[in-house]
Amino acid sequence: MTDLAGDRSALTERIKELARAAGFDRAGVAAAAPSGQEEALRAWLRRGDHAGMSWLARDPERRLRPADLPPGAVSIVVVALDYHPGPERGGEPGGDLWPRVARYARGEDYHEVMGEGLRRLAAEVARIAPGARTRPYVDTGPLLEREIAARAGLGAVGKHTLLLHPEHGSWFLLGELLTDLDLVPDEPLADPCGSCTRCLAACPTGALAAPYRLDARRCISYWTIEHRGPVPAEVRPGLGGWVFGCDLCQEACPWNREPTPASEPRLGLPPERAALDLAGLLALDRDRYVDLFRRSPMKRAKLEGLQRNAALAAGDRADPAYRPALAGALRNPSPAVREAAAWALSRIGGGPARDRPAGAGSEE
Ligand code: SF4
Ligand code: SF4
Repeated sequence: MTDLAGDRSALTERIKELARAAGFDRAGVAAAAPSGQEEALRAWLRRGDHAGMSWLARDPERRLRPADLPPGAVSIVVVALDYHPGPERGGEPGGDLWPRVARYARGEDYHEVMGEGLRRLAAEVARIAPGARTRPYVDTGPLLEREIAARAGLGAVGKHTLLLHPEHGSWFLLGELLTDLDLVPDEPLADPCGSCTRCLAACPTGALAAPYRLDARRCISYWTIEHRGPVPAEVRPGLGGWVFGCDLCQEACPWNREPTPASEPRLGLPPERAALDLAGLLALDRDRYVDLFRRSPMKRAKLEGLQRNAALAAGDRADPAYRPALAGALRNPSPAVREAAAWALSRIGGGPARDRPAGAGSEE
């Protein structure tokens, strides 16, 4: 091991520098201590606020005790990567789909981007601290990552339940490197919300049922990303035209007024998807879908989910220009897409079709 091994502070600072060199915007350290959120997590699960995401209810003990995870973690290096595209000048790139796709999902799959950076970081840690064991996690691991990131000083959990930093807002992704190295933990930040409740007021579906409590059963992100099959009739009008995720509670947050633009170009919307619009998405066949979304986090909703959401979004806009695409979707092999298309057509009614919106169908 290098001489850094004897100096806990110097080793910690060096690892944070290496995290930035690996492409991350910020890094902090938390002790791999048991979670202080045990009661809150159990209450959330008891209320059923996790909706159909049954995997979140599996094995909560593992989530609460990161030290039990490999590699016998003592410390957790938490990294942050900004993803906001920067000033949007009132317009959005490309087809009419993109104003209603959550910004984190417009570019390459962040699991890949973050995972690659974390593997680079792990290799560098192995170089400066030979014998140290590490393990990267991005979203998929059994970690309560927002709580851990808050303990690592990367922000504090806001009333919209996301991690929020007074300088960097909340438009950033998180990843973790668990290690058996004993590093110096960072200090948590103060509560950034105070008496503000803008995100609660901005949520159109009441999913922020109370400060710091997200009821996924009412959240647009849940319905458009995680839910499989038809969307219940009572939920459809509340989706507000979102095709994948929802950014409204973040847009409302005063700390997000001047977002830091992403430094990682792979998180930007690539030209081959930028031109795709609702009508084009409804018309996609499987081969073209695989081509376009292979490297996108939007593949989580699968082709069926994206087309179902596109039909519901077209219905939300109630624009007769979508009628031909929706009529085509009535022949879709998925009952969920067909049902959504029929609902959308019933919203649009029988008036004359206007010209297609600019860019419609231009993905071909
Ligand atoms: S993502 Fe949208 S629906 Fe979900 S809590 Fe935020 S504003 Fe509400
Ligand atoms: S909108 Fe206000 S209450 Fe909500 S997270 Fe931002 S600062 Fe906190």
